[in-house]
Amino acid sequence: MIHALTRLGRLAIALLALRLLTVPALAQPAPTDAWLDQTRTRWVAVAQKIWETPELALEEKKSSAALAAELEKEGFRVAWGSGGEATAFIATAGAGKPVVALLAEYDALPGLSQAAGKPKKEALVESGPGHGCGHNLLGTAAVAAAIAANRARVEQKLPGTIQLFGTPAEEQLYGKTFMVRDGAFRDTDVVLSWHPDDQNRIINRTRLAATAVDVEFFGRSSHAAASPWLGRSSLDALVLFDHAMALMREHIKPTARIHRIVSKGGAAANIIPDYAKGQYWLRDSTGDSVNEMLARLRKAADGAALATETRAQVTLLFSVREPVVNNALDRLLQKELERVGPPAFDAADSEFAAAMQKELGFETAGLATAVMPYRERNGGTASSDIAEVSAAAPLAELNVAARPLGTAAHHWAETACAAHPIGYKAMMIAAKVLAASAVDLLKDPALVIAARDDFQKETKGKPYVSPLAPDAKPQRY
Ligand SMILES: [Zn+2]
Repeated sequence: MIHALTRLGRLAIALLALRLLTVPALAQPAPTDAWLDQTRTRWVAVAQKIWETPELALEEKKSSAALAAELEKEGFRVAWGSGGEATAFIATAGAGKPVVALLAEYDALPGLSQAAGKPKKEALVESGPGHGCGHNLLGTAAVAAAIAANRARVEQKLPGTIQLFGTPAEEQLYGKTFMVRDGAFRDTDVVLSWHPDDQNRIINRTRLAATAVDVEFFGRSSHAAASPWLGRSSLDALVLFDHAMALMREHIKPTARIHRIVSKGGAAANIIPDYAKGQYWLRDSTGDSVNEMLARLRKAADGAALATETRAQVTLLFSVREPVVNNALDRLLQKELERVGPPAFDAADSEFAAAMQKELGFETAGLATAVMPYRERNGGTASSDIAEVSAAAPLAELNVAARPLGTAAHHWAETACAAHPIGYKAMMIAAKVLAASAVDLLKDPALVIAARDDFQKETKGKPYVSPLAPDAKPQRY
């Protein structure tokens, strides 16, 4: 018995020694981490300034200027007007290959004005715009990361170019699509991005393809009581068309979504409306499926027009495909996200999160405190024009927890968190992950080759085809 215990003891000591030998060395902080920590107040000030002047799609003059000014201060060359969008810019530092790009968004959303640091709905400006998608954090983190990576490039004498794309009008789902159509990403080797979320993870293959159209009907006006037989109601046509779309819902894939609003339905009930307009969004896991639904929508519009003796017109507002996944870049972002770790939320952050969750009637689950393990098909289902970039160049995207668990973007809760320590902590984590990943790509040509190989495999080498007409111009809808 004594002998056995001794043997067990020896075995335990041997196992312990083996464990000590095999425990991985603690991940080293990247030089870009330290610089971002030192300059934290600068980035919080930029993000706060953009939050305080929320600008809608294509109107982001102050927001884009604030970000571009930071880049110019650090020696980036800035060119404006990519894709025919006045508030789009491309900032470049360095020269030659590889060309590593980051994406900045900065548009706000209508009606999501919200007081900072309030865990309940309280508009700063009634019905005013607000950063309900956290793009003030998104854009600032990307700019901070681009500058940090470029400083590392200079200090470590690394080859290559750092690009930062200032991409407007994401909330219209076409800002980047126009830039891609006009060849902005032609020389870019890899693209990295992030989005505020309630989780820390790599987004993979879950964003939906989406297409939106205006459906207009043109009829003939008449007095609704005195001579209705002379009129042809465009609203009748829209109602009939909408019914056809509602019936179509039984015959679409379970992954598909159809949503709509009536934008114009007439001026007064006693006038036969000669004009009616609806906006319809079609979404599914693939762009091919969305295109099939669009063809059926066009038939339904023509059918409704025929039945009501009106004329139908279908106009494309935007179209984005499903993202092209890049596993090589996903793995790089995952490695750096695990190294940097999740935001270090404190007791005050948790209290704020719990108060917000209680206000919303959600489980008081607090904030995400871990990084989700890498897995395929991870992330939210929101569509984004980032998918168009992913079809033009290898791209990966991560989420960092910037709001309480269970809360969603496009909501006052996100606006509140986007000017709160919770949002700023997420922003700095994103900046560190993006900066370190960009430096990894400059240092290791094999990573860029792997990303390019994955891109070729996923796209089967097919060239990018824009969903936009060559002469289409960005317009608010
Ligand atoms: Zn967004």
